[in-house]
Amino acid sequence: MKTLMPYFEYVRPSNLEEALNILEKHDGSAEVLAGGTDLLVKLKDKLSYDKKTIIDINRLRELDYVRKADGVLAVGALTRIETLSRSKLVRETAPLLAEVAYEFGTWQIRNTATLGGNLANASNANDYGVALMVLDAKIKLKSVRQEREVSVDKFFLANHKADIRTGELLVEISFPVPSQDCRTAFVKMEGRESSSYPVVNSAALTRLSPSLTIEEVRIAVGGVSPTPLRLRSVEERLRGLSVAEWEEIESVLRDVRNLVNPSSSNVASKVYRAEMSYVYVKRALQAALSRAGFYSSIAGGG
Ligand SMILES: Cc1cc2nc3c(=O)[nH]c(=O)nc-3n(C[C@H](O)[C@H](O)[C@H](O)COP(=O)(O)OP(=O)(O)OC[C@H]3O[C@@H](n4cnc5c(N)ncnc54)[C@H](O)[C@@H]3O)c2cc1C
Repeated sequence: MKTLMPYFEYVRPSNLEEALNILEKHDGSAEVLAGGTDLLVKLKDKLSYDKKTIIDINRLRELDYVRKADGVLAVGALTRIETLSRSKLVRETAPLLAEVAYEFGTWQIRNTATLGGNLANASNANDYGVALMVLDAKIKLKSVRQEREVSVDKFFLANHKADIRTGELLVEISFPVPSQDCRTAFVKMEGRESSSYPVVNSAALTRLSPSLTIEEVRIAVGGVSPTPLRLRSVEERLRGLSVAEWEEIESVLRDVRNLVNPSSSNVASKVYRAEMSYVYVKRALQAALSRAGFYSSIAGGG
C-alpha cells in the first residue's frame, strides 16, 4: 500500500537564531525535524496533521558537539547517536552514553538519529531517558525570549509529551562527570525486532566503599510507566547496604514491581512489563556492581 505524506511547508534555517525566529513566528504550528527517525514515521502515520510547517535543523552545526568544561560534559542536541558511540571524550568520561549507543537501533538509525530527538520525542521507553536520569542530567531549552534548564527527571510529562514550550528548541544536554570510582550500566529487552523501541530498559550508577557497602546508587527504568522513571525510593533503601547482604538488596528490588505503572501493548502485557521491570533493574544494578569490583554468584543470576 502506498503511504502518502501530509502536505507541509518545509524550511531549513542556517543558524540557531534563524531557527528560533521561525519557531516563534509559527506559534506552535511548526514541528522540528532533526534525524527524522521518529518524525517521518509519525508523518507517514499522519499523526502530525496539525503541524503546517517542518523546520529542518540539520544545518545548525552549532548544536553538534561534545565538550567538557569545569567537570561538566555537555552534548549538543543535534549530536548523532553514532557520534556518542565513537567519541573518545564520551567513552572516557561517561561510558554509559556510548554503551546505550552500541545497543541503539541499527547502524543506519544511529547515523541519523540525534540525542535531542530521542529526548524530545519522549517515548516512555527512550533509551537515553534512563541513562541521563542516572547521570543527573539537565536539559537546556531556548526560545527567542528565554533560555531555561530542566532536570531530566522533570522533563518527561507523559508518553510522547515532554516539557518543551511553544517556540522552544532543545539545545543541550549536560551533566556533572561522575567520579572515577563510579560505575554505570545499561540493559534493555528489545522489542519484537532488535531495531525498535525496547520493551523495558534500565540504567544504574553505583559507587562502592572499600568494604563493599553501597555508597552511591542511582537507578532508572523505562517502558513500564507513562515516562521513564528514576527510582529514588529504591536508591534510598539500597544506600548503606553491604553487597554481601544480597538477599536484602534483592528484596528491595522486588518492590520495583509495585512502583511502576505499565500499560499493555501488542508487544507485552502490563503484568509481564511489571515483572520485567524488576528483572531488568536487577540486571542493570548487577552489571554496575560487577564493574565496581563486586563479583559474586549470589549477584550473578538473571
Ligand atoms: C528502526 C528504528 C529503530 C529505533 N531504535 C531505537 C532504540 O533502540 N532506542 C531508542 O531510544 N529509540 C529508537 N528509535 C527511535 C528514534 O530513532 C530515536 O528516538 C531518535 O533518537 C530520534 O531522533 P531524531 O533526531 O531522528 O528525531 P526526529 O524524528 O527528527 O524528531 C523526533 C521528535 O522530536 C522533536 N525534536 C527533534 N529535535 C528537537 C529539538 N532539538 N528540539 C525540540 N524538538 C525536537 C521533533 O519535532 C519530533 O517531534 C528507533 C527508531 C527506528 C525507526
